[in-house]
Amino acid sequence: MMELQGIGIGQGVAIGRVLRMPEPLPEPADTRSTLDPAAELARATASMHTVAEDLEARGVRAGGTAQEVLEAQAMMAEDPTLVEEVTARLHKHQTAERAVFEAFAAFRDQLLAMGGYLGERAADLDDVAQRVISDLGGFPAPGVPDPAEPFVLVARDLAPADTALLNLEKVLGLITIDGGPTSHTAILAREKSIVAIVGTHAALQLADGDEVIIDAANGIVLVAPTDKQLAEARARILARAARALAPIGPGALKDGTRVPLLANLGSADGAAKAVALGAEGVGLFRTEFLFLDSTSAPTVTQQREQYERMLREFPGQKVVVRALDAGADKPLAFLNDADEENPALGLRGLRALRASEDILREQLTALAEADAATEADLWVMAPMVSTVEETHYFTDLAHELGLQTAGVMIEVPSAALMANLILEYADFASIGTNDLTQYTLAADRMLGSVAGFQDPWHPAVLRLVGEVGAAGRAHNKPVGVCGEAAADPLLAVVLVGLGATTLSMSASALADVRASLADFTLEQARHLAEVALKADGAASARAAATAIAHSYTSTTGGTAPTVLTTPERGIQK
Ligand code: PEP
Ligand code: MG
Repeated sequence: MMELQGIGIGQGVAIGRVLRMPEPLPEPADTRSTLDPAAELARATASMHTVAEDLEARGVRAGGTAQEVLEAQAMMAEDPTLVEEVTARLHKHQTAERAVFEAFAAFRDQLLAMGGYLGERAADLDDVAQRVISDLGGFPAPGVPDPAEPFVLVARDLAPADTALLNLEKVLGLITIDGGPTSHTAILAREKSIVAIVGTHAALQLADGDEVIIDAANGIVLVAPTDKQLAEARARILARAARALAPIGPGALKDGTRVPLLANLGSADGAAKAVALGAEGVGLFRTEFLFLDSTSAPTVTQQREQYERMLREFPGQKVVVRALDAGADKPLAFLNDADEENPALGLRGLRALRASEDILREQLTALAEADAATEADLWVMAPMVSTVEETHYFTDLAHELGLQTAGVMIEVPSAALMANLILEYADFASIGTNDLTQYTLAADRMLGSVAGFQDPWHPAVLRLVGEVGAAGRAHNKPVGVCGEAAADPLLAVVLVGLGATTLSMSASALADVRASLADFTLEQARHLAEVALKADGAASARAAATAIAHSYTSTTGGTAPTVLTTPERGIQK
């Protein structure tokens, strides 16, 4: 038996035998072309066009986020700068295969050097290059194997084109060697509820036919598991399937205390699925995701259309829209300075918006117009707020531009520590545990080498969450959590014990979190929080809370919530 560590996506468990993705095509030889450059260019552009069309067609078949990703890849395939790079090489008498290989590789290296969101697009570009080179040689495009039996797919990283169209009847789970929690593989796996672990460097050792258990909740792959481990994994798979089939009610603790469960969305495309899975609104609409590829600021009209689309999906329900959070892992060309040495500590989030106040004003204006045209309960919030003064600035501006409910995200330790003064002013707070953990533990959330520090169970993070929860109680204002921590079923209970009044997460996590909340009373949640706060590190906090939780659920059993009593903390106007 061997245990491999990676970054789990979601809470799923899968058992199966490994099948590795075929190795990429060999590097095309660097020999002089026998054709003239014009003939090679005709071959290259024809193949690039064929690949672009194929990717678009796959996008149409896949729909949703996958379609956007595949359309972006189709654009890469015929990108004019790349075509220029290829042409320059053909004039040096390279073959079309070699020219495509080199031009795409140069572009890919530039993306990798940029790091963050753009760095994680490198795999997308590699995939396009492989497809073009295969087409030039008349080979089938590289892709997922299709054996008769279901299997666990092991790949260096998956191209979006492959992830989007994975046959979920055959692929029991996915293990990638590369890729981080924000790679497209991870995003699409989350959206399609594929049991997945990414960034599992040791998976290089896995061979076809190895039996594995993928335990995404704990970020581990068990190789050659024992009978006992297999039996436990099977029990967890069955329990999870039963939870997914449970009737969908509003989020609540066992004693009826309401904890509305909301969805994190990047566009209106995921809204219908989120509603079907019981989302009671949107707790984080990441508006910057709409404009990641834009080189200039979107107009008020363009923005209003997008916001209206989202708001129309949630009539009468809360939709928390975050102003553009540009910078670090999500740079926007029209808001960020690409030359910052340390972008996570630079002019990002509200700081960047304030430096380009016109863009912020236009976004808030578009939101106010969309609000007036729709029935949802729109709340707006600012990202990366670190001072009380910034809170005044943002909430005053939002109110001035006609938005009724304006709050801030708490993602920086200074904001958490000042929450009492921040919530005197802001209408609500929403805790972004991804960044709060990154800044509290001083560990870049995009860097695999420090991923071990990026654990929101750390009591230092929990203490900060507790500060915000206490401030919310003192001012009777809502405190949401919208970072990944809210998607961890037991941590979700701890967060409620620390004072969170709503939880927002990827839609695929809703069923697990809903079931977990229903197992504990508010008093028990507070006790779990107390125990976790006293621990000396993330692992011991998790272990201590797990032990207590087990003692509660094994003596009382997990029953469905009965009465719905305590309402979500109200907005004081
Ligand atoms: C967070 O930081 O926890 C958060 C929700 O925002 P994002 O992940 O988009 O930075
Ligand atoms: Mg954040």
